[in-house]
Amino acid sequence: MGWTVQKMIDEGYSLGAGCNKPQCFHFGRIDLGVLKAKLGPEHSTMAPDLVPKLRCRKCGGKDVGLILHPPAHRDFPSPGRPNANG
Ligand SMILES: [Zn+2]
Repeated sequence: MGWTVQKMIDEGYSLGAGCNKPQCFHFGRIDLGVLKAKLGPEHSTMAPDLVPKLRCRKCGGKDVGLILHPPAHRDFPSPGRPNANG
């Protein structure tokens, strides 16, 4: 099952995008609220669906990669998990 804009917001994820051009490597954060207003809450945020909608703000290139930032689980300190650095 895929991710939608609304699901990303609900789950607390944030989204970034990085330009793949070696001379550019521009990185930007994607505002999910703007994305929701633009594409609708049910639009997929899976890379094949979303990447064609994106464009590098610096060089205008379309070779853009998505970076997913999972929500930070600050409220669950788990001392019993030694390798919990995902
Ligand atoms: Zn670029």
